Order: sequence, then C-alpha cells, then structure tokens
Amino acid sequence: MAVREIIRMGHPTLRQVAAPYAEEQIGSDTFLELVEDMRETLHASGGIGLAAPQVNVPLQIAVIEITDPITRYGEIQTLPFEVYINPTITIENAATAGYWEGCLSLPGMMGFVERPQHIRVDYLNGSAEKKSIQLQGFLATVFQHEFDHLMGKLYVDRITDMTLFSFDSEYQRYHLNNSLNSPASES
Ligand code: ZN
Repeated sequence: MAVREIIRMGHPTLRQVAAPYAEEQIGSDTFLELVEDMRETLHASGGIGLAAPQVNVPLQIAVIEITDPITRYGEIQTLPFEVYINPTITIENAATAGYWEGCLSLPGMMGFVERPQHIRVDYLNGSAEKKSIQLQGFLATVFQHEFDHLMGKLYVDRITDMTLFSFDSEYQRYHLNNSLNSPASES
C-alpha cells in the first residue's frame, strides 16, 4: 500500500475518458490495492475526493470522503469514505449555483464554477452493490467535479467567467469574503 503520485493538468491521462471498470474485478487484489492506495493518497493530500485518473489509472473509479466539515467547509455535512465505480449522474433539476473549486491536479489554483445543484448518482460500491443517492448543493458540486475526471474533464473547462480563476492566495485575499457561495472544495 502506498501514497501514489497525483498527476497534474497537462498529463494526457487527465484528458482521456476513463474505461468502465469490469464488475467482476471488484474485490480483486488489484482492485483492493488501488482503492487502499487512493484512500492513502486522498488522506495524504488533504482533499475530499480523488478519481483514479488522477493517479494515472484511467478507470471509472473515484473515492470521496468528507470528515472535517466545520473548519474547512462551513455547514457541509460529513460523508463517510465511499468508492464510486462506473457512476452515472442524472440531473434532477437544471437550476445551477456556483462554488469555488480547487483540484489536486491543479495545485494552488481556484475557480468559480456553476453546476446543477440537485442530482442523482447511480453507482457500484466497493462491494459491487448497486447504489443510488441524491445530492444537493455543495455535495452535488463535489460529485460532479469528481466524476468529470472520469470523463477527461477538469473544472477549468466549466469556468464561465475567467476573472474568477485565481491563485489560491489571491482567492483568499480578494474573493473568499465577497463570493456569493463561499465553501471551496479540493478534489
Ligand atoms: Zn479534481
């Protein structure tokens, strides 16, 4: 088990559509090692989500875990560690809202992105069970950011106002306290 290197924007793997994961491989030694490495890498990075392509594995697997809602994410609820395999997103309501997003593959940068805020996610978990969850608000943004990685997309592709793309220290200085929605994610 190991912390893996997180690849950064410019690496071609981040721009490739990841392959669906073979259901019969869920639970295999290779699968368990990848998930454990992704968990360790997520913890070592301080992020809340990590997609397999970010560790240069172009497969449709992502992990999300929110343990520390108060100090970093305002009123956002916690979310226990979960593995999301071959997830699909259904937009339940097209109304959008924006949040500042960061990404472990674009260290030191932040951008304001508007996304639908009411979605359903269908996926297989780490035990190959079919699951479906509804997400709203900031959590809906977190999941869309993460699953974009499985489709070769980065949050920068979705910034509509490039004046709201910023280095982190300038975000803290100039944008943090005047943004409409202040929670920021890094995944
Ligand atoms: Zn990301």
